Amino acid sequence: TRPLEGKTALVTGGSRGVGAGIVARLAADGATVAFTYARSAARADAVAAAAVAAGGTAHPICADSMHEEDVATAVTQSVDRFGGLDILVNNAAVGFFAPITDLRMDQIDAMLTVNVRSAIVAIRESLPHLAEGGRIINIGSINADRTPFPDQSIYALTKGALASLTRGLARELAPRGITINNIQPGPIDTDANPADGPVAPAMLGVMATERYGTAAEIGAFVSYLAGPDADYITGSSLNIDGGFAA
Ligand code: NDP
Repeated sequence: TRPLEGKTALVTGGSRGVGAGIVARLAADGATVAFTYARSAARADAVAAAAVAAGGTAHPICADSMHEEDVATAVTQSVDRFGGLDILVNNAAVGFFAPITDLRMDQIDAMLTVNVRSAIVAIRESLPHLAEGGRIINIGSINADRTPFPDQSIYALTKGALASLTRGLARELAPRGITINNIQPGPIDTDANPADGPVAPAMLGVMATERYGTAAEIGAFVSYLAGPDADYITGSSLNIDGGFAA
């Protein structure tokens, strides 16, 4: 049997990039997966179709993480459709990179809202449904621990917030048998940070490895943390960064 057989999962921001890699792996490992997206309906349908073609189940939900109601509805829809929820993955995020004085307040608010506030909302809405063995996995960033370039202060702040949230909630959730962890990727080849993009040489210059990571590698890490072997891991921020922080 597959390791996540019988489990249900909700992944935010699953239409592209890291989120799509997470959806693909959870579904391949046997979980029934719902995932949100904001704009990329066609990409979301393709992610769902690929999961089905690989023998899994994935169900797209249009839900904008800028809006509390959308996030709450996505949780409710997942629970209603699948009859429960075992795994929540907070992956959706946005990044605007500029000196703090050049960032517009709407850009700062979008980072705070999508990257932090929507994760809080998803966790609050999911917790009544999570049972013993439940899993919450946040997708943070290695930038929470190391910020070697300018123009990333607010983005890094949002990812640091996820690390703190993870530590604090581990204490609240352990008595219920629920773990919460924060994965901190280094550079991963996605639309947001292409391996052949303009910042790639600088990124590779501060890393131990000479390549970007892949969404599939993050998906594999999420699947491990979601599975029964990871029951003793909680409250942790775990780096998967090609030595970015080494
Ligand atoms: P992408 O920009 O490539 O993809 C973002 C995903 O999030 C898309 O599916 C997008 O949906 C969704 N999303 C964005 N805004 C919203 C919103 N308001 N509501 C719902 N969904 C939304 O990002 P990555 O895949 O690169 O990043 C994924 C996660 O990994 C993020 O948390 C990011 O911070 C983190 N990370 C990424 C790194 C990298 O190098 N790529 C490094 C470290 C961390 P839609 O298609 O509809 O826009």
